[in-house]
This record gives sequence, C-alpha cells and structure tokens, in this order.
Amino acid sequence: MSDHCIFCAIASGRAPARFIYIDDNACAFLDINPLRTGHTLVVPRRHVRDLADQGAAEALAEVGLALQHTARLLRARLDADGISVLQANGAAAGQTVFHLHFHLLPRPAGDRQLTDWTEDRQARKTLDETHQALTS
Ligand code: 5GP
Ligand code: ZN
Repeated sequence: MSDHCIFCAIASGRAPARFIYIDDNACAFLDINPLRTGHTLVVPRRHVRDLADQGAAEALAEVGLALQHTARLLRARLDADGISVLQANGAAAGQTVFHLHFHLLPRPAGDRQLTDWTEDRQARKTLDETHQALTS
C-alpha cells in the first residue's frame, strides 16, 4: 500500500467511493468522471504503478475475478451490449493515477466512437442512480 495513493486509500476504506464489487484482492467502483454511464474502475489492492512495474503479474492475477464480475454486472444491470476496457501505462499514455487500474465502459449498440477521454456530463449527474442500479 502507498500512503499517498488515492486508489490505495479507496481500496482500504480511507477514502469514499461508489463500490460495486469488493473481494480480498481487488475492488471495483464508479469513476467520478465517467466517460459513459456505468464507467467503472477495477483496481487490484496491491499497489503497483502500471503493467511494467514489479508485481504487476501478481496484481493481474488478483484482479481477474473482479474484472469478470464487473463486466457481467454491467451487462446485466445496465443492459450494456458490450464493454470496452481501457488501461493507461505512464503519463504519456494518459495515466493520471499511478496505481494499476482498468476502465470498464458499458457500450450500447451503436454507441458513438470512443475517440477521447471526455467526460459524459449526464453520466456524472446520475452517478448515484447508476450506483443504485448496480448494487440494489
Ligand atoms: P487514468 O487516466 O489514470 O487511466 O484514470 C484515472 C481515473 O481515475 C480517471 O478516470 C479519474 O476520473 C478517476 N479518479 C481519480 N480520482 C478518483 C477518485 O477519487 N474517485 C474515483 N471514483 N475516481 C477517481
Ligand atoms: Zn495505490
């Protein structure tokens, strides 16, 4: 765990988040700046910076169940026709939180192209409703 890492703080309960899945090795919670309704971050508890960091292979193994559970939940509860997975390694690739994580984006059939990382304002306004739909 890293003391100054927001995802370590969330995973350990020191900072709040809208969790949709938790297990011993990983957790999943709604992104505060969603690109789509239901945009979820899947995060291993183990603090590794990115895929090239030491310990990343272990973190990848530990996050598998959380990725699968989250993808199933988004498909079932939000009627997602597909799920896109985004993942950034290093600032040059757009990484802003340096704790390995995966973005899961629910995609309706015919969804507009994912050409940038621009927030969806409507999805942000309805974060609480989305959280309720995924956890009730
Ligand atoms: P990156 O650009 O590093 O791949 O993505 C980091 C993501 O973390 C961004 O989409 C950003 O909105 C999200 N994020 C940053 N801080 C917080 C936070 O405190 N809570 C939540 N739920 N998401 C966060
Ligand atoms: Zn961390």
